[in-house]
Amino acid sequence: MLFYTHLLFGVAFFLVVRQFAPEISTPIFLVFILFGSILPDIDEPKSRISRWSGIFGKIIGLLSKHRGFFHSLLFIALLYLILNYFFGYYYGLAVVLGFLAHIIGDGLTPMGINLFYPFVEGRIQGPIRTGSWSEKILMGSLLAFILYMVF
Ligand SMILES: [Zn+2]
Repeated sequence: MLFYTHLLFGVAFFLVVRQFAPEISTPIFLVFILFGSILPDIDEPKSRISRWSGIFGKIIGLLSKHRGFFHSLLFIALLYLILNYFFGYYYGLAVVLGFLAHIIGDGLTPMGINLFYPFVEGRIQGPIRTGSWSEKILMGSLLAFILYMVF
C-alpha cells in the first residue's frame, strides 16, 4: 500500500474510535495512530518512514526483510509493552490501532502479510496491487468514509 493509503486508513480508524470513545480521541491520539500506521514500513528502505529515520532506518532495512518482523504481531506486542512501560497505556493503544490499520491495508495486497512471523508461515493476502487503480478506488472510498464521518 502507498504511504497516503496507510495514512487514510489511520484517520479512518481514529474516526471509528472517536465514535465509540470520544473522550480518548484527542489530536495527540490521532498523531500516535498515524505514527503506528506508517511505522511498519520502516523495514522498506525506500519508504518515507525509513528515510525520515536516517541511519536507524538504514540498519533496519539491512537487518529485516520487508513485511517480516515489522509487520508481525510479535513486533506490535513488543512495541506496545515498551510504549506502555515508558509512556503509558494510552500511547501504546494508539500505536497498536495505527499498526492494525497498516496491517489491514497490506493484507489487501497480493504480497500480503505474515502476521505470525517468525512462528508460523502463512500469508494474509488480497487482490489490491500497490499503486494500481484498485488502490486508487480504495483511497477514494476511505476519503469518502472520512468525509462522511467528519461532516
Ligand atoms: Zn507495510
